[in-house]
Amino acid sequence: MAADAAGLRRAAELLRQESVCAFPTETVYGLGAHAFSAKAIAEVYRLKHRPSWNPLIVHVASAADAEALAHEWPEAARLLAERFWPGPLSLVVERAHHLPASGGPATVAVRVPAHPVALALLRECGLPLAAPSANRSESISPTTAEHVIRSLPDVPLVLDGGPCRFGIESTVVDVTVSPPRLLRPGALSLRAIRDVVGALRLPGALDKGDARSPGLAHRHYAPRARLRLVDDPATLAEGADPGTVGILTHLPAVAEGAHVELLSADPLEYGADLYAALHRLDDAGVATILAQLPPEGDDWLAIHDRLTRASAS
Ligand code: AMP
Ligand code: MG
Repeated sequence: MAADAAGLRRAAELLRQESVCAFPTETVYGLGAHAFSAKAIAEVYRLKHRPSWNPLIVHVASAADAEALAHEWPEAARLLAERFWPGPLSLVVERAHHLPASGGPATVAVRVPAHPVALALLRECGLPLAAPSANRSESISPTTAEHVIRSLPDVPLVLDGGPCRFGIESTVVDVTVSPPRLLRPGALSLRAIRDVVGALRLPGALDKGDARSPGLAHRHYAPRARLRLVDDPATLAEGADPGTVGILTHLPAVAEGAHVELLSADPLEYGADLYAALHRLDDAGVATILAQLPPEGDDWLAIHDRLTRASAS
């Protein structure tokens, strides 16, 4: 449905009735639900087939609204929110005591999204919204309204806001500890975050080198085809039945053959098109996707992470 005034009104109505609706954010499309309605959240987990241990991020319209959900709002949260909100950064803080006990963690993850439709919807419904990616758990995240409808045909309403600008999930930072700790690399670069808070602790599995070892990361963001992360996809594809093998690369020299997705050598542009390219390769019906190892470096961390998880079996 068009994200016009009528669409926003209808979506807000569904959310107030403790139903769900999908909407665009600058990262990926989210499956929105009143974050503190047990009924609405159960519907999110049911539709996504999401394991119940995986916590949700609460989307709000302003930093003040986020702070109201926190028991404590540390200096790092204040600085990061001031610099990057609205934007693709989620902060994990201690949960305010007045929030319904969830039986989950004593923390809550909060974010102010930058997409105008997401912000308009938050204002229209006046509710804090959980909005995990609007796709079946483990599969490729949606970056267009059409991706959502294909993955979750039973969602009552999808607001169409066009393709997502970043196309990669938010960066998640835990600010309950000092120095803050990275929980998930994402659309906002580590360099940008370090510029504001100084040190940032990385989880072991994301340290350089480790990110490539299979088995460390659980399966997520995965296409139907088997994805292999390799140094030289062209050589591996030689001799294979071209109909069954797809290639994902940022190197123009490799871009020959039947199912080749040539992505940008710029990490922001690569990220914006990554999930759509995986959707296209799945649509082409290939059995294997040979994904070229992307360059090293902070700017490619989120892409390494997503490709590694997509390749886990
Ligand atoms: P998403 O699937 O984009 O909604 O993101 C959910 C992710 O946010 C989880 O998989 C965690 O990485 C992170 N997250 C959300 N809430 C918390 C929390 N309270 N503590 C730690 N990580 C969290
Ligand atoms: Mg997801």
